[in-house]
Amino acid sequence: MIDMHAHCLPKIARGEAQVVDAERAPWLQIEAGGRTGHIMLGEQRFRPVTDSLWDPAVRLAELDAQGVQLQVVCATPVMFGYAWPAERTADWAQRMNEHVLGYCAHAPTRLKALAQVPLQSLDLACREATRAMAAGCIGVQIGNHVGERDLDDAQLVQFLMHCADESIPVLVHPWDMMGGPKEGRMKRWMLPWLVAMPAETHLGMLSLILSGAMERIPASLRICFAHGGGSFAWLLGRVDNAWRHRDIVRQDCPQLPSSYARRFFVDSAVFDPGALRLLTDVMGADRLMLGSDSPFPLGEQRIGSLVRDAAFLSDAERARVLGGNAREFFGLAGRAPTSE
Ligand SMILES: [Zn+2]
Repeated sequence: MIDMHAHCLPKIARGEAQVVDAERAPWLQIEAGGRTGHIMLGEQRFRPVTDSLWDPAVRLAELDAQGVQLQVVCATPVMFGYAWPAERTADWAQRMNEHVLGYCAHAPTRLKALAQVPLQSLDLACREATRAMAAGCIGVQIGNHVGERDLDDAQLVQFLMHCADESIPVLVHPWDMMGGPKEGRMKRWMLPWLVAMPAETHLGMLSLILSGAMERIPASLRICFAHGGGSFAWLLGRVDNAWRHRDIVRQDCPQLPSSYARRFFVDSAVFDPGALRLLTDVMGADRLMLGSDSPFPLGEQRIGSLVRDAAFLSDAERARVLGGNAREFFGLAGRAPTSE
């Protein structure tokens, strides 16, 4: 199995974070015993975490126990730094990418890294994406928006075109959720993760489709959206209906919205067989890749179990979702072992 959506967070020291942004740069507070800790933002606890997040030896033991041959790891989105001055974020992104490559170097055939980039600056983002690929990353992870700019923003489209030009695979991860994490109507029950996060992903995909950006972006771009594309597959019929009956939905988008679905890849992190079936019907089994969102509690705890147990997939489709598609998406050498 290849798990293409998992996170790490390096052992960022408090001082390293403070010089970048004293309130918003994340750092890792590890508790006595070394197995548990918190991601910290300034003096505030952001999230409780466990040691596989920062310790590659622990991660590798988990992969062995779960039968995962290769895991693609990327930054935890709180590390993005898109709100900081761009030059500062560029320096930070480079250091974080070196940290993540160091994490993967513990087991180079089992762990591969996606880079983060200073997405608020087109030039600096392109430069870091190119540099990080040369340094050993196998793709980039970006957030689905930069402040008020969604993926249809001219500069973000340019960044995607750069990735297409240089054959850099892109994972789009929702973050900085609408409604805010701690205020107003989203303040309880992890609602930002349960309601706003799937909407953020949907917004990112529709921004690319309805703006007409997918008409300009080369079909060679390999782009994947996390969490099964959020609300996208479930609501695509609603979008098509709106496109047929309202000219303001059609004005920048010449083709039926659903006709662009096959330009996107999605991961399998939907946690329900019916949802996975719909996703497969809408996107195609060749556009679906196993993604666990490990090691967080909202990830798949038995990695690959949803796909392995999906009776509606043929053996060939299952093998594609569990590894073959990711191998092609990331251009990983070698053919799928039969054990997949
Ligand atoms: Zn994730």
